[in-house]
Amino acid sequence: MKKEANTIVNALKAKKLRVTPQRFAVYANLLQRSDHPTAEQILKDLNENVPTSSQATVYTALQALREVGLVREVLLEPGVCRYDANLEPHHHFHCPCCGVIEDIPWDTFQPLNLQRLRPGITPERYQVTVEGVCDRCQE
Ligand SMILES: [Zn+2]
Ligand SMILES: [Zn+2]
Repeated sequence: MKKEANTIVNALKAKKLRVTPQRFAVYANLLQRSDHPTAEQILKDLNENVPTSSQATVYTALQALREVGLVREVLLEPGVCRYDANLEPHHHFHCPCCGVIEDIPWDTFQPLNLQRLRPGITPERYQVTVEGVCDRCQE
């Protein structure tokens, strides 16, 4: 999911976000990976080449990106917030053993019949989280 620099700039501009080096770097990093990193992992990645980012700037950039809907939070473990730039509807596989989270294509499962919910509930969205042991942990 690697995107060209101007595609990233245009995505930020389309959401009326001012393009700052931190927002650009954080969003570009998230688009390049599908491992649902935490803010700390993004920070570590960004500082690999030039150590310029601080935890606060990464958090601030993530918050701005989340508010305009370019990234979303994935909360599968208590107290751990991970980030995802894949906005297509999809499900997640989570291995609690090593913490890995990977995407499951939406059409892997039959759609749920939301009509069967009790009256009075207005469903807006759902997604499936499959918990289990990944191949690496099985070895
Ligand atoms: Zn695992
Ligand atoms: Zn995902």
